[in-house]
Amino acid sequence: MYNVQQAVILGAGLGSRLKGALTARPKGFLQLGGRPIVEESIAKLIRTGINDIVIVTGYCFEFYDRLAEKYPFVRTIRNPDFATSGSMLSLCMAAPCVQGDFLLLESDLIYEYQALQALQSSPRENCILLSGRTGACDEVYVGVSDNRVVNMSKCRDDIKWLGGELVGISKITGDLYRQMTGLAAEKCKQNSQYHYEDCLTDLSSSTAIYYHCIENLAWTEIDHEQHLSKARKDIYPLIQQRDSETVVSKQVERHVLLNPGPANTTDTVKYAMVVDDICPREKEFGDLVEGVRQDLVRIVHGADAYEAVLFASSGTGAVEACLSSVVPHDKSVLIINNGAYGKRMQQICDGYGISHIDYDIDWGEPVACDTLERLLTQHRQDISHLAVVHHETTVGILNELSTLSHLAERFGVEIIVDAMSSYAGISIDLKDSGIHYLVASANKCIQGMAGLSFVICKKESLEKTKEIKPRNFYFNLYQNYAYFSHKHEMQFTPPVQIFYALRQAINEYFIETEQGRAKRYATLYDVLAKGLQALGFRFLVETQYRAKLLTAIIEPKGTHYAFSEMHDYLYQRGFTIYPGKGATQNTFRIANIGALAKQDITNFLVHLEAYLIKNDIKLRHQQTEPVINHHQL
Ligand code: PLP
Repeated sequence: MYNVQQAVILGAGLGSRLKGALTARPKGFLQLGGRPIVEESIAKLIRTGINDIVIVTGYCFEFYDRLAEKYPFVRTIRNPDFATSGSMLSLCMAAPCVQGDFLLLESDLIYEYQALQALQSSPRENCILLSGRTGACDEVYVGVSDNRVVNMSKCRDDIKWLGGELVGISKITGDLYRQMTGLAAEKCKQNSQYHYEDCLTDLSSSTAIYYHCIENLAWTEIDHEQHLSKARKDIYPLIQQRDSETVVSKQVERHVLLNPGPANTTDTVKYAMVVDDICPREKEFGDLVEGVRQDLVRIVHGADAYEAVLFASSGTGAVEACLSSVVPHDKSVLIINNGAYGKRMQQICDGYGISHIDYDIDWGEPVACDTLERLLTQHRQDISHLAVVHHETTVGILNELSTLSHLAERFGVEIIVDAMSSYAGISIDLKDSGIHYLVASANKCIQGMAGLSFVICKKESLEKTKEIKPRNFYFNLYQNYAYFSHKHEMQFTPPVQIFYALRQAINEYFIETEQGRAKRYATLYDVLAKGLQALGFRFLVETQYRAKLLTAIIEPKGTHYAFSEMHDYLYQRGFTIYPGKGATQNTFRIANIGALAKQDITNFLVHLEAYLIKNDIKLRHQQTEPVINHHQL
């Protein structure tokens, strides 16, 4: 279950039993600490991931309207009949603003933060929060059976099996809300005092409404003077104390990313970012960076001979750092362009005025070694570097490194490899590879977070670059390297938390092992490719040239197909797919990298097939029977 993002607060009531203490303000504006209790509730809701708060107002509504002016995430909606109606009518008033699932709260509550946390992390969709005995004198008892709510009453004798006392905070699905408003349309006509608790009881026999009981929860609603004085004296101080000790945690929604990065990460990588604040110039952080640098090199077997230089940037930053730092002013770089990232290297060189010779190939086609050799021969005197994208993510083609590096070696040319979307996904062995610079980033096959990129440099080559007059500043490869080597600190402010996530991601890589990761990705690819083929899809790149980390799929022809519609359909069902880019034929792309399991791919195929059937999209070689077993879901 993912975090609910909307809350509805019922704040219309008169608070007639509190008149003396209220003095012409709504109950939510009672104050026990530094701000009104409803503002304390709002702060807790924001802390738990709520970003849209709807308050149903009535009595002294201007107070709440002022709150809505103060906070951009608060909206108000008025119940003009608040004086004569029950809470269910107020809840119905919120309908134009309700977007789906929401937390329902009463405005006169004070409660511990853990109350919200418990509902947010509960796997139960419709879930009512209960507590143990409060002795509050106004308790609503909740009767339960088989984990489900069966009735509620202020009279204890009405309850057969007691689940606990109603707190006044519930998690309601959009579906249940529709049922509630539907029923209320009739019930409110017969009974003006119809409350949302009545409605939940009425529906509980036909719809599963669950409960979560926190036995010793500190909370109270404030309905009369005794509540208020007990709240002031005992409950509020206890809530303050417990909240200060509570660690914020959030349930993470699972969305399957089939775009070629940023890729899915594990929850443990996400949580690794929650760390004590630290100044990145402390030795402790320098040690972390040093460990990461060494392990990034180790992943590609370059220990001793290579150094990793890290940048706070997306992957393009590291490509830019490399090209703008290593090509001497009087030399040229030969760039292989069989996709957008090869083209991007040409654009970077144009930006810096770096001389480049282009080997342009249709996107989707492999490198022809004889053409490359001809170019190297022709420009022998000028070329110092050959730049190539290992896995050209535009089309999913793998440019085979050993052939290219042997060729480069024969011509005495250094080789720069953009391994952005292959690093840690396909085994790369730098030892005796003839590769001088390997560029990648944290957010693809290594399964870390976006925001860090790196160049793994052959030490001798990097040392030579210090003689090159800098064309850059922030992105100077040698300067960044020298600064860290000398000071044990990054030259510029690093993305601290992203580093901790990368540390965790690297650890998880070693646990999975090099072979294990490659094997998992290969399995994901096999399941994907077979499934797509069975559905009748065709692929852009010939099998032998595929990296098997991303598949460029030829788009269906005909009027029933539109990529954006297919994307939205799948997105709503939890899958992100990616459009094609500049290939010889129109394509869309599906990547199989990141923290994905086989089930993610089979589930995706089921939804994809459902989309094709729904829209009557016919593909060549299509089978007549449904291909995917729907029970796999
Ligand atoms: N090079 C390759 C091969 C890529 O796949 C990508 C991004 O997908 C990049 C470079 C650019 O990386 P970024 O988008 O992180 O700047």
